[in-house]
Amino acid sequence: MEARYSKLRSLFDEKSEFFREVQRETEEQIEQKSRCVSKLTRKGFPVVFGNSSKPFVSDTFLDTVKNSVLTNLTRDFFKTKKEGYCPGCGEWCKRFERAHTIKERPDIAKEALDSVMAKHQEEGSFEMSEFLNGFIQLHRKYPITSICTACHLILDKKIRKEIPRGHLTYEELRKLDYKGARPIDILIEGVGFDGDKYTDVPKSISDLRCVIFQGVATEYLRTAFTSVKVSPTPKQRAISTWTRHEFTGWYDKEEYDNDGAVLYFFISGTSDNVSMKEVLKAIFEDRFKYRYPYRHTLFQFEITIKLKLASGEIVEITNKMQ
Ligand SMILES: [Zn+2]
Repeated sequence: MEARYSKLRSLFDEKSEFFREVQRETEEQIEQKSRCVSKLTRKGFPVVFGNSSKPFVSDTFLDTVKNSVLTNLTRDFFKTKKEGYCPGCGEWCKRFERAHTIKERPDIAKEALDSVMAKHQEEGSFEMSEFLNGFIQLHRKYPITSICTACHLILDKKIRKEIPRGHLTYEELRKLDYKGARPIDILIEGVGFDGDKYTDVPKSISDLRCVIFQGVATEYLRTAFTSVKVSPTPKQRAISTWTRHEFTGWYDKEEYDNDGAVLYFFISGTSDNVSMKEVLKAIFEDRFKYRYPYRHTLFQFEITIKLKLASGEIVEITNKMQ
């Protein structure tokens, strides 16, 4: 079982032997067929996207073509094995399926559309065949393999979820469900954060929030989060549990004169989703008009976190410039 998993996992590693083999096979199929599939060269089906009174919506276009045109085209180009040894599990199998590797069909289609539109920006239209050809040619970069049904299922339901999704925006991150999620990796860099690098992986989402709060100037820790209090009132204590945490005072208003001093704040216990909202707010929400000290956001350092969601999916959160 482990051998099968690591073999399938290597389909996501462009340097692995299995990936290269799949890439060679895909290229061969493209070369053999490109000349004879007329859909890729035919003229007379222009798609107008600019200089028109009617708006062109990329997503609608992609939605329309993905289940009809692109499915058929993929089937025409990339044949599945009939019966034989599966390269995933190494066993004799009777049913094979086409499986995408590092990029799936909707993303490949989007890339093909973006590139054909960029190329014809001035004319505001392109030939449908040029888009289809671009879509097929991209499979040289994002190849397709033929594996057995069981391997395909493992690939899509398990292994693909281990691979972090591409860059997610603040808006997208806010929509995820963090219930039962846990941090699996962290890197915080920036002068002043206990030296240059911080890599101690927090045990829970609530611990992660506490680490994030350490990277917020004291002045804003006092005011920007409802779950942080210098001293919770009896009423607040009645509705929530508060845990005392040690902080180092910094960038505080002069009246406090706390720079470098040990300070205590209480943090209230909340659900994973509420805690993550505060984490994301601290990392991403624009707070300062002027870059002072050096970020617009409450959290003042460069951070990359990997979280494993309850679904098994891994999400990467970073404020590094992309
Ligand atoms: Zn298999």
